[in-house]
Amino acid sequence: MTIRKIIVAIDGHSSCGKSTIAKAVAARFGYAFIDSGAMYRAVTLYALRHDLVADGQVKKDELIQALPQIKIEFRHNSSLQKSDTYLNGENVEEEIRQLPVSQNVSPVATIAEVRAAMVRLQKEMSKNKAIVMDGRDIGTVVFPEAELKLFVTATAEIRAKRRFDELTAKGETVSYDEILQNVQERDHIDSTREASPLRKADDALVLDNSAMTREEQLEWVIEKVKERLNF
Ligand code: C5P
Repeated sequence: MTIRKIIVAIDGHSSCGKSTIAKAVAARFGYAFIDSGAMYRAVTLYALRHDLVADGQVKKDELIQALPQIKIEFRHNSSLQKSDTYLNGENVEEEIRQLPVSQNVSPVATIAEVRAAMVRLQKEMSKNKAIVMDGRDIGTVVFPEAELKLFVTATAEIRAKRRFDELTAKGETVSYDEILQNVQERDHIDSTREASPLRKADDALVLDNSAMTREEQLEWVIEKVKERLNF
């Protein structure tokens, strides 16, 4: 008997724990996890390093021209049992999570050509199904045919607090207000941009995790995946 393989598309607002849920679900079912936000972050890091973006202002035409020089991959990190993001052969997993990238990624992600290049790569990475991908346009644009679509959200204050705790736990000195502002700004840019704006797919299930523990969320999602697998 062949086991049915599905695509799980997880979209939602910034810092609402999408990746954490996606990773845990992927591990539970032996699926691959693809963090599409990491890809936009890697492009942004490239742009920052080449002076193609600063203070949210992108040199759009130059960045579009540079796209063929930007190679993004995920490589398995066996010691930590996770996969790391590589930009042109360099492990940039830590650097893409830092504030300079977070502050410039949403403007970079508004560029239709950047999105087209990332979507192409995301589809290539998912040829064999059995994947969980998280992002902003996975259920609407990348995999409108996904068997399970989730739309995750929580209040901006709760999301900023979680991000603040995560960064301080890593020893970084950050300000809660700055993070809250960044979360709100990214929500605004992501939801109002012209190219593939963040929106809930009509057939996505909403998961508001403002008052849910990680375990509760995981249990809820696992049930939904099982329902799809037994179909
Ligand atoms: O998921 P994460 O917060 O790491 O994503 C960083 C940024 O990348 C988002 O704020 C959004 O602007 C962009 N993004 C996107 N489409 C995706 C994933 C991320 O536009 N599929």
